[in-house]
Amino acid sequence: MNKNFSAFNRSAILAGMAEQELDLLVIGGGITGAGIALDASQRGMRVGLLEQNDFGSGTSSRSTKLIHGGLRYLKQGDVKLVREVGRERAILHRNAPHLVIPAPMLLPIYKGGTYGYWTSSVGLYIYDWLAGVERKERRKMLNREETIRHEPLLKQDGLKGAGYYYEYRTDDARLTLDIMKTAWSQGAAIANYVQVTEFLYRDGKVAGVKAKDRRSGQTWEIRAKKVVNAAGPWVDNVRQLDGSLQGKRLFLTKGVHLVVEKEKLPVRQSVYFDTPDGRMVFVIPRGNITYIGTTDTAYKLDINQPRTTREDRDYLLRAVNAMFPQVKLEAKDVVSHWAGLRPLIYEEGKGPSELSRKDEIFLSESGLITIAGGKLTGFRKMAEKVVDLVAEQLVQMQGGSFPACRTDEIVISGGERLGHADYADCKQELLKKGVALGVEETIAREWVDTYGSNTLHIYERLEGTGSRVRKPSEEELLKAQLSYAIEAEMTVTAADFLRLRTGWTYFQVKKAEAKAETVIRLMGDALGWSEAERERERAEVRQLLETIYRLPENEAELAQALVMQNS
Ligand SMILES: Cc1cc2nc3c(=O)[nH]c(=O)nc-3n(C[C@H](O)[C@H](O)[C@H](O)COP(=O)(O)OP(=O)(O)OC[C@H]3O[C@@H](n4cnc5c(N)ncnc54)[C@H](O)[C@@H]3O)c2cc1C
Repeated sequence: MNKNFSAFNRSAILAGMAEQELDLLVIGGGITGAGIALDASQRGMRVGLLEQNDFGSGTSSRSTKLIHGGLRYLKQGDVKLVREVGRERAILHRNAPHLVIPAPMLLPIYKGGTYGYWTSSVGLYIYDWLAGVERKERRKMLNREETIRHEPLLKQDGLKGAGYYYEYRTDDARLTLDIMKTAWSQGAAIANYVQVTEFLYRDGKVAGVKAKDRRSGQTWEIRAKKVVNAAGPWVDNVRQLDGSLQGKRLFLTKGVHLVVEKEKLPVRQSVYFDTPDGRMVFVIPRGNITYIGTTDTAYKLDINQPRTTREDRDYLLRAVNAMFPQVKLEAKDVVSHWAGLRPLIYEEGKGPSELSRKDEIFLSESGLITIAGGKLTGFRKMAEKVVDLVAEQLVQMQGGSFPACRTDEIVISGGERLGHADYADCKQELLKKGVALGVEETIAREWVDTYGSNTLHIYERLEGTGSRVRKPSEEELLKAQLSYAIEAEMTVTAADFLRLRTGWTYFQVKKAEAKAETVIRLMGDALGWSEAERERERAEVRQLLETIYRLPENEAELAQALVMQNS
């Protein structure tokens, strides 16, 4: 198989996949598909994965970006799940320390609110115990004065105190990508921009897929003993391709997040609070911005284009202004935002916020295995369940055996500690190396926070540019970053670099806008784009920025806009 997870290798990778029957083909390159590809390849299966857009472009780049400890499940009385999720969080922190970072969270308690002081105290205590939370991160209960000292911006009327505990922050798109890269290094064959359009059958059973390379237009037939549908919000569409959309179905709900400059909402730590309509909302500081989320409303429009509406925005602004009365956020303060679809499983008579976030496996008569629902946090366990099932079916078909899941021991790409026991020391070494190469400290820090130990591969690409007397220019820095993105992260469009590889359109939208033309020029030169292709890239980036700057009023207006766009 090809050595590099490179945009240049996509066709060769697909040719390799088509050459020989795979043990397992995974449809969908979100976190669920990535986790399955990693687990199955680690157990020695011949695995392929196809993603119709870019990796993580669906729900896996549009979440609240938290690796939860499962507090919500405690409220629902699901003790087993709290324990499992707590354990998963610790495993992910150990294996991906560059992307899964503990961050304190404040749960303010008000007279008449969802959580009472003593129930929160006992609840958080039990949660710490069940989830195996480390001593230094165990919950503290704060009285009213301590709470105000921690967060002076909070509404003080009716405030009784707060729970102070830890959640873990992540970058969902990067986590998905780094798991994908790890699966690749374990032998999985993976390609983006390849859409599964049909199934192939042998004796009435799924025996592979027809898929279209959306970049070259080429069609491929890929044969596989087992096919898993991990298409997130699209799983029912994929089941429909197989003619097996029966029984349980998905119910999609839309969740929106807003981004404001930090000075507009300068919270000192994350806050998880009640909204006037009884829902819960997060406010999360991150670098120079603070983000707010989320809404939870039934969604029936185009799955490919969930969008924030002014109604969604105003709902979140009202919630924040009610909780932080001095802040007075206005629509013009929103610098970016995103909308994602929760692939939940429909349950009769339940509203969006009441539906379970649990995952479930559906088995079609054709042999297609579908995994639906779930969370980022539980991806490894979901993958284990699916791959156990695939292993069992393969053994029934052909005999032999597969080892048990061992993904809890695999370091995720970028999480290597370079010989240090503690990741913090590794980070220091990486920063020092960057500064020695003439990289400005803020850029080196951004790279280390984004790429972890893979920053070294960007540094390698910089060597020979600057010198002791001349620091690398801004363009040389961007070129090194882009060369890594293309050659080692299979980045094929400028919009993907600006949104998914760097997170700039979410968290540094002005930078995304300012750099867009240079990104297109440098990527175009590297990938040999024609003038027409460069123009298409420009149009795609313009459209991405437009969805950030111009919001439809509500879902009805969005529906109209989508009809116009598609006609
Ligand atoms: C608003 C919101 C907030 C959330 N917050 C959190 C959180 O803080 N923590 C947490 O743990 N979880 C959170 N979640 C849940 C979590 O984000 C999802 O469970 C998870 O990302 C789903 O991943 P997935 O891989 O199943 O789906 P996706 O990421 O959507 O991946 C499915 C992929 O399949 C591809 N695909 C579809 N059809 C085809 C085809 N025919 N051929 C090839 N590819 C195809 C799609 O392009 C897509 O990339 C949140 C979800 C939402 C919506």
